[in-house]
Amino acid sequence: MTAKRPLIAVLTGAGISTDSGIPDYRGPSGLWQRDPQAQELVTIGPYLADPDVRRRAWLLRRDAGALTAEPNAGHLALVELERSGLPVRVLTQNVDGLHQRAGLPARKVLELHGTAREVECVSCHDVGPMAGVLERVAAGEPDPACRGCGGVLKPRTVMFGEALDPAVLQQADAVARACDLFVAVGTSLQVYPVAALPQIARESGARLVVVNGEPTPFDEVADEVIREPISTALPALVRKLVAEHA
Ligand code: ZN
Repeated sequence: MTAKRPLIAVLTGAGISTDSGIPDYRGPSGLWQRDPQAQELVTIGPYLADPDVRRRAWLLRRDAGALTAEPNAGHLALVELERSGLPVRVLTQNVDGLHQRAGLPARKVLELHGTAREVECVSCHDVGPMAGVLERVAAGEPDPACRGCGGVLKPRTVMFGEALDPAVLQQADAVARACDLFVAVGTSLQVYPVAALPQIARESGARLVVVNGEPTPFDEVADEVIREPISTALPALVRKLVAEHA
């Protein structure tokens, strides 16, 4: 008889993607906090109300190159963990799609803040790939509209001023309750409701491991805090977990 394999929940934030060249826009010293004009571009009210805000937002998306970013050693370590056969769920605050691009099956990833790889019409809710809309921007359309109804297009991300999808949040909550180990990687754990997830996991009896460059509010209650760079710390943690449990 083998021991029950632990369910591992991994919450990832901006810190796991900085080695892929994606800046931490939302973090305490990120662009969105420092520059009110930049914050408008990702805030739903101004974005819907002002075509000039949308024009600047599309130029930023065109220049940011998020669609061409490549996964790094941290993302690949989580793929290795999943392929070991251990039950894993990844809950991510990132919108870059790099977990799936690294090879994690989409059904194992919950995107708490949506995805920047797709766009959505705010009027008819039609969904399509971001890449196609960025091609229209490159071809000279400053504020591409929905081809079906003429409505405003936005990325399928949760912008400032928007609530998280309750269905996604409910699934994340269920994973936090059910898991045996909760690993928080590259997230400051300061923004609710996501910051409630490690708390829920702990109260349900899970071990808590924090991997982050900066201190978090959960460091004192965590079973383990790892302060090393994520692209070396996460592969080491995964090797240990696989050796112990797989
Ligand atoms: Zn539409």
